[in-house]
Amino acid sequence: MHTDPFGHSLGTLLTGYVDGELPAALSRAVSGHLRECDSCGAEVASLIRLKSALRAVRSPPPSATAQARLVERLRAARLGR
Ligand SMILES: [Zn+2]
Repeated sequence: MHTDPFGHSLGTLLTGYVDGELPAALSRAVSGHLRECDSCGAEVASLIRLKSALRAVRSPPPSATAQARLVERLRAARLGR
């Protein structure tokens, strides 16, 4: 019997996984599921294709200052609990 902890409704989870935005534990859980689930694996493959297509047309990355500010904000959000 196929057990699927995510119920194939990964949607934004898969997007976050492809973007590398998931917490490590969640990312591991998703990649474990992808090994056993063809339909979610196919969805990730198409997301990766879409992402590289988007990257080709996207404007240059944000400046180092903007990136540093974002990192600071993420760190503060994580610590400020
Ligand atoms: Zn699945």
